[in-house]
Amino acid sequence: MKVKKRKIKKKVIYIFIALIIVIIGSIAIKNHIDYINSNYYKLNQVGYNDEEIETIEKLSEKQIDIILSKKYDKKIVSFLKQKYFIFDNLDKYLEYTKEFEDRKISDVVALVNVLANEEHYDEEIVKPTDTSKGILMLVNKYNYLTNEYAPDDIEEISNYYSYAGNSIKKEVYDHYKDMWNAAKKEDLSLIVTSSYRSYEIQSNLWESRSESFGDEAADASTARAGYSEHQSGLALDIVTYNVTMNEFINTDEFKWLQKNAYKYGFILRYPENKTEITGYDYESWHYRYVGIEVATKIHELDITFDEYYAYFIK
Ligand SMILES: [Zn+2]
Repeated sequence: MKVKKRKIKKKVIYIFIALIIVIIGSIAIKNHIDYINSNYYKLNQVGYNDEEIETIEKLSEKQIDIILSKKYDKKIVSFLKQKYFIFDNLDKYLEYTKEFEDRKISDVVALVNVLANEEHYDEEIVKPTDTSKGILMLVNKYNYLTNEYAPDDIEEISNYYSYAGNSIKKEVYDHYKDMWNAAKKEDLSLIVTSSYRSYEIQSNLWESRSESFGDEAADASTARAGYSEHQSGLALDIVTYNVTMNEFINTDEFKWLQKNAYKYGFILRYPENKTEITGYDYESWHYRYVGIEVATKIHELDITFDEYYAYFIK
């Protein structure tokens, strides 16, 4: 009896050990399968190292799958690390760098984000402006206002603040008056020299330039009809008395605007050294109203409105 009992005990122990071996084995197999299916393993197989994988793994599953469908490319990781990287533009960044190998990677991101890798006014690229964005709508050489668009709350600007015949959206006018008064307190005089322009006025302006100097010269100085920010009623050309627009850059009023315009919701729309991004030469007189909050952010980030729109608004 005692011997039989001992035999049974032994059997139970063997079965128990066998069971443990099977469990440990299947855990090991499962772990191995998990490892093979992991993003880490797959990215490693494509050729990415640990540090690169760490960057790529911050993306969503869908985005990682897209990276996995491509050959190893260390440039992908460089793009991922860029502050204003937009995943949907990845292929365009890579394409652009192939063509222009010497461009700084941050410049490539900025240019592609704002479509500046494309021709101005290219019929296949241009889109009607999304006017539902209100004071944050984008009007540039790739986004246009239709001939039907006109702001609904245009007010005439008093000759106290402006040369004759100017008008602007009410909200912009109110903020401009605040800015004007703040400048006045420091003995500085601002004056509006151009403001809201209808589609028709812009059209006549471009046509007359084009007739006198040719299309190319007209494009260099004047926006085509629909493509002028002045049609939005959100842009003001500001100077001071007795200077031309080109001389404004040398005035104290300009220096003051550089430091203070954002506090009233305005940004310098076409800054220095940003022609490739904005499509316009440096214009010290052209200010765009975007509201105080966004103007402050743009001032702090030191980027153009085109870049801000691509990354934060669109
Ligand atoms: Zn202007």
